[in-house]
Amino acid sequence: MKSRITEEIILRQKLDKQRAIRLNNWAQGNSAGPFKVIYFPTNYCNLRCNICWQRQGVHDYSELSVQRQMQLVDEAFQLGVKEFVIGGGGEPLLKWHIIQPMLKKIKEYNMYGLLFTNGTLITPEIASFLVEIKWNKVLISLDGTENVNDQVRGKDAYNKIINGLDNILTARDNRNKPIIGIGYALTRQGMSDIPNVMRILGEKDGDQLNLIRLVVYNFSQRKFALNKEDLRSLTKILMNALIIANNYGIVTNLRDYLDPELIQNSENFEKILLGNKIELIEMPSFWNALCFEPFTNIVIHSDGNVGPCCMSGNTTIASLKKRTLGDIWAGEEFTKLRNGIKNRELESYCNICDINVFQDNQHLREEGSRL
Ligand code: SF4
Repeated sequence: MKSRITEEIILRQKLDKQRAIRLNNWAQGNSAGPFKVIYFPTNYCNLRCNICWQRQGVHDYSELSVQRQMQLVDEAFQLGVKEFVIGGGGEPLLKWHIIQPMLKKIKEYNMYGLLFTNGTLITPEIASFLVEIKWNKVLISLDGTENVNDQVRGKDAYNKIINGLDNILTARDNRNKPIIGIGYALTRQGMSDIPNVMRILGEKDGDQLNLIRLVVYNFSQRKFALNKEDLRSLTKILMNALIIANNYGIVTNLRDYLDPELIQNSENFEKILLGNKIELIEMPSFWNALCFEPFTNIVIHSDGNVGPCCMSGNTTIASLKKRTLGDIWAGEEFTKLRNGIKNRELESYCNICDINVFQDNQHLREEGSRL
C-alpha cells in the first residue's frame, strides 16, 4: 500500500476514535464541543451541473464578511474542532482570495482539512499552495468519462476537471499530502462508468473514489436517478470497480453501496433510519440516536446560517452574523434539535439523509458502544 494511504488510514482511525470519545461525553449526559465544521463559502458557481441542488433555484448569494470568515477558523479552533471541510454550495475556488488564508490558518491550527471542489479552477499555483501547506485531502467532482460526465456536468466540463486533477497530481507528485480523489455522483448514466473512472484515477496515481448518492430536487433531474433495473446491475459493476480499486490501492466507499435497499430508499430514507438497520441497544441509550451529526458537526452556509448536517439545506437554525460559533453550539436551537434526534424524531430533511453519513454513523455507533 502507498505510504500516503497508510498514513491517511491511521490518521482517519485516530480521528474516528476521538470523535467517538466526544460522543461518549454526550452519552454520559455531559456535552462536548463540535468536532467538524463544514463550511460553504459561496453559492456562486462556474458550472451549471444538471444534478445540482441549485437547479431548484438559488435565491440568496449573500456571504459572510472576509473578517467573519477568518474569525470562524479561530472560533473553531478554540472550540476544539479537529476537522474543517470547505465545500459547496457553489464552487469554493471562485473565492480563492478569501479561502486561501483560511486554509493556511486551518493547517496552522493542525486541523484536518478537506476541500470539495469541481476541480475546474485548480491552477498549478493553487495546487502548489495546497501541497505546500500540507492540506489533507482534495475531492474533485467527476461523474463519468467524458460523454457521461458532460451530460451531467455540462459541455466541456470533463476536460476542465481533468486539467485541474492533473494540476494537483503534478504538484503533489510523490509526496504524501494531499490525498487526491474523486467524488462521484451515482447516476443511471454514470453507473457503468465507475470501473472506467476508477482505472483512470489509478493510472494517474490518484488515491480515493467516493460515491455520492443522487438527490432529485426537481422533475428534470428524475432522468438521472437509478431505476429498479439499474439497481439489479449495480452490485456487479461495484464489485468489478472494487477489484480495480484494490489493484491500484485506491481507497473507496463502494462497499457501502452494495446494499440496494439504501439506494432504493434514497428519497425515503426515514424507512432506513427507523428500520432494522440500526440495531437498537437497551433503551434509553444515546447510541440509538437517529444520527450523531448535531453532536459533532456544524454546517455553515455562505450567508452565515447554520444547520446540523449537509441535508438540512435551507432549514437552518441560527445565524453566525450576530452570534459566535460557541454560542450557537451551546444554544437552545441546537439543544432542541439534539434532543429530537436522540429520541429518534425525524427532521423534515431526514428523508434525504445521505448514505455516506448513515454509514459513517453506523461505524461510530459500533465504535461508541465499545467504549
Ligand atoms: S438528515 Fe441529518 S439530521 Fe437527519 S438523520 Fe441524516 S444526518 Fe441526521
